Amino acid sequence: MKTNLWENYKDKKEVFDFCENYREFLSNNKTERECTKFAIAVAQKNGFKELNTLIKENKKLKAGDKVYAVNMDKSIALFIIGTEPFESGINIVGAHIDSPRLDLKAKPLYESQGFCMLDTHYYGGIKKYQWMASPLALHGVVVKKDGTKIDFVVGEDDDAVVGISDLLPHLEKGPEKKAEFSGEDLNIIAGNIAKTDAKENQFKAFILDILKEKGIEEEDFFSAEIEAVPAGKARNFGLDKSMIMGYGQDDRVCAYTGLMALMQIQSPQKTVCNLLVDKEEIGSVGATGMHSKWFENTVAEVMNLCGQYSELSLRRTLNHSNMLSSDVTAAVDPNFTAAFNPATDAHFAKGISFNKFTGAYGKSGANDANPEFIAALRNELDKQKVPYQANEMGKVDQGGGGTIAYIMAKFGMNVIDAGVPVLNMHARWEITSKVDIYETYRAYVAFYGLKTK
Ligand code: MN
Ligand code: MN
Repeated sequence: MKTNLWENYKDKKEVFDFCENYREFLSNNKTERECTKFAIAVAQKNGFKELNTLIKENKKLKAGDKVYAVNMDKSIALFIIGTEPFESGINIVGAHIDSPRLDLKAKPLYESQGFCMLDTHYYGGIKKYQWMASPLALHGVVVKKDGTKIDFVVGEDDDAVVGISDLLPHLEKGPEKKAEFSGEDLNIIAGNIAKTDAKENQFKAFILDILKEKGIEEEDFFSAEIEAVPAGKARNFGLDKSMIMGYGQDDRVCAYTGLMALMQIQSPQKTVCNLLVDKEEIGSVGATGMHSKWFENTVAEVMNLCGQYSELSLRRTLNHSNMLSSDVTAAVDPNFTAAFNPATDAHFAKGISFNKFTGAYGKSGANDANPEFIAALRNELDKQKVPYQANEMGKVDQGGGGTIAYIMAKFGMNVIDAGVPVLNMHARWEITSKVDIYETYRAYVAFYGLKTK
């Protein structure tokens, strides 16, 4: 294997150009809803039709047709119908579009020491101290009782940001010094002007007046999803600009590459699908998570429009499918080498990283991919001259993690984890290598065309 993939490129322009578009996507899409909206726009531009509209209009689908289905504005599946029958299986690239963050509580507003505050409940695995003393933006949606949706974005571009205060080092000698903060410590400061003609809660009242201008009442936070995320754009990283630093690259880097790869596919033999789901970071639960029946139902609907649906055919289709659980893995970190086994863990600039299994402490909770499937993948990637690396994530017994792989494997399909290596995963700003991003995209293009029995 080459020491560093950059040497493969005489002209690095194709890598940099692809990643510039990715960087823009990352800067502009920080929630699952925003990512879904982005994917819909890409789909429509590329001739995909919306599934429910086709059902309503009694339209049929045939080989080469493109269709997408959206689940509650927070997950999306896009299909290109193959020439082979569904029963030969679907080639699926599946990523998640939710990322660790702080969610506003259903009753977030309160006052303390002359400040209007916003109470939060963190989502996913975070190191809490990282979220303090740094600029945060609020992204989300407020739904009024009559169903009107108000998009809520504060803190991007030159707009004012919000944030959580941290204690000055000078006063850390006393009991306030903490190694780790509790979730209840993560309170956002929202304002400091008093509405003096309000009878009580003057600081809260001032902020409520500002929200009222956007059509939002205090009670509306109950029917809202507002996420506090790192404010600002994704950046080129390194003096050589070989990397990208940005929020939410777990797993939007695999979502973006999988989606863009699908757009390269024309008239496939097997039906191909890019699946972008929500709620992975909290266990893939809920109606928009991978554990939901939604994907299965959607495949049934698509098969039906192709005139190929029966309960048994659906089971066979899922059973015979192949999937890349396209999720990030941890790259060996030069500042924390003790957590890794450099011989078996992922490195930057070596291409897409395959994790045969994830899990922790003796592979517990892992999807352990089959060598027969891996052999077919190796063959295809080598044929297409796509570089890749085969890794674990961290030292044995160091810890571990999971993805949506094991959930899809329940259908009996072949699944393997495959994605971009990341430095400081789950931090506010995660780092990836541009060449890995580009080669992951190429690997997904190759996978969509994979022929297996
Ligand atoms: Mn992930
Ligand atoms: Mn994650």
